Amino acid sequence: MKLGDVIQSADWKAEKHVPVINAPDSVKAGEKVTVEVCVGKEIEHPNTTEHHIRWIKLYFKSENSKFVTEVGTYQFDAHGESTEGPNKGSAYSEPWAKAVLKLNTAGTLIAVAYCNIHGLWESSRRITVE
Ligand code: FE
Repeated sequence: MKLGDVIQSADWKAEKHVPVINAPDSVKAGEKVTVEVCVGKEIEHPNTTEHHIRWIKLYFKSENSKFVTEVGTYQFDAHGESTEGPNKGSAYSEPWAKAVLKLNTAGTLIAVAYCNIHGLWESSRRITVE
């Protein structure tokens, strides 16, 4: 078995676990570009002590390279935990993050999200560089 065998994918408009990557289709080489990654843009994912998104990782695969580069890890650590019991806490971190990148070659952004109950989900987005 390979890790890829258990990473699921689907259309993010229909499946709430799929990470959404918001980025321009095209950027200028070496210029700062803001990339937003999130889970639940169209259909909200639960955010409870028992069921939540723990993290999203973002990768970049240059079209000139065989290897992928890890760009960032975004951890979501608060899900209503409290001394009063589950879901009584005062803070919840939403699965939403912003990365600022500089790219020198075209390639593909790949996001992987982890739900503590439903495992790993991925999506990708092609980005060209002028
Ligand atoms: Fe889930």
